[in-house]
Amino acid sequence: MTEQKKKLEKLSGVKGMNDILPQDAALWEFFESTVKSMLRAYGYQQIRTPILEPTQLFTRGIGEVTDIVEKEMYSFTDALNGEHLTLRPENTAAVVRASIEHNLLYDGPKRLWYIGPMFRHERPQRGRYRQFYQVGVEALGFAGPDTDAEIIMMCQRLWDDLGLSGIRLELNSLGQPEERAAHRQELIAYLEQHVDTLDEESKRRLYTNPLRVLDTKNPAMQEIAQNAPKLVDFLGSESLAHFEGVQRLLKANNIPFKINPRLVRGLDYYNLTVFEWVTDKLGAQGTVAGGGRYDPLIEQLGGKATAACGWAMGVERILELLKEEDLVPAPEGTDIYVVHQGDAAAEQAFIIAERLRDTGLDVILHCSPDGTPASFKSQMKKADASGAAFAVVLGEDELAQGMVGVKPLRSASLESTGQKNEQATVPVEDLTEFLINAMVATADDSAD
Ligand code: ATP
Ligand code: MG
Repeated sequence: MTEQKKKLEKLSGVKGMNDILPQDAALWEFFESTVKSMLRAYGYQQIRTPILEPTQLFTRGIGEVTDIVEKEMYSFTDALNGEHLTLRPENTAAVVRASIEHNLLYDGPKRLWYIGPMFRHERPQRGRYRQFYQVGVEALGFAGPDTDAEIIMMCQRLWDDLGLSGIRLELNSLGQPEERAAHRQELIAYLEQHVDTLDEESKRRLYTNPLRVLDTKNPAMQEIAQNAPKLVDFLGSESLAHFEGVQRLLKANNIPFKINPRLVRGLDYYNLTVFEWVTDKLGAQGTVAGGGRYDPLIEQLGGKATAACGWAMGVERILELLKEEDLVPAPEGTDIYVVHQGDAAAEQAFIIAERLRDTGLDVILHCSPDGTPASFKSQMKKADASGAAFAVVLGEDELAQGMVGVKPLRSASLESTGQKNEQATVPVEDLTEFLINAMVATADDSAD
């Protein structure tokens, strides 16, 4: 009987959820380290919450008639215990939940930040995925407009640190719930007058979330949205003073902005300041960050009424911008690549590689894919491709005399060690010191 080998079908990942491949690692690391140093500059502390939360957190926190809760959540019932769970679509509600649960605000306000994947069941397209990363900040317990201005300026500092330009700031105030209620009545009356021109989505939202009608991207409805009663005309003196306070600080710090009276944001929990950072360089998905004040949320989730504001930033969209603007950093190579020939040399190479790592050097030890030794020539090719500054070369004859070879690669040089800039032969016991000196000299050279 002949054994028939069945070719197994290739598996793919979930649609709209991306693998982040090694070739993009340098870009992600550049972004993450830049964002972390910006956050440190403003005294923010990291918080990490679970990816799964009880579904109720989002229905209560984000609001039943928002895009996210209506149609974008990955919600399911845990087959083992019947709990209703949701993969987090955003992280503000979870950070607030954790702050209440652990009483984080007992000794005063907190500045918190997070980074991690979020999940929304949307139609995948450029800049819109079903799993995507957000970096976000939540300033909990600060009521003044200085905090609104500060979190906005953090974004500007990040753009500057990343080298990005042309990201515009749009600003609006949603006032307080009572002011929104007064505006809502007039807005509904206005929209009722134009009900024939409303699209299906807007008709559906007319009585549930009329503010969102103003946010429509439908070209046929732009005029209606443009001429609708403006929320800003319903703001009382306190709300106006807050809004003006934010604007004053931004102006004093030379942060340009545009007031967009139709900016409402997709989530229910906002009040007063809302803002978005927008670019024209990413096509339709041009909003790279959004945020605002959400003073009602903490109480709404069962905590003591506490002022709060924050933003969330779409990491993939920013990385796309960095690529678009050719700001992708070169991947970092290793320091040393160790090549070797022969059994005795292989064992020595293993030991030497560990010694070098003990001193803090980054070392790749050559390993052949099939377990049989490759020629020095093919090993040296790998050494070149690794980005290492130096190759350490272990041959059996040299080793027998207690010596190893050191060969400079790429821009590295041995001149500072008094050697010619070609392969040097060094006693094994001097290797570490020799390499450290050569690495330091190379780093100094490239800094010049
Ligand atoms: P949009 O109007 O683009 O749907 P949103 O209002 O739903 O955005 P927020 O909930 O405010 O977005 O999230 C903040 C940021 O997260 C957005 O400005 C965007 O940069 C990013 N973002 C949101 N949804 C996605 C997604 N599906 N894929 C990639 N990034 C996203
Ligand atoms: Mg959305």
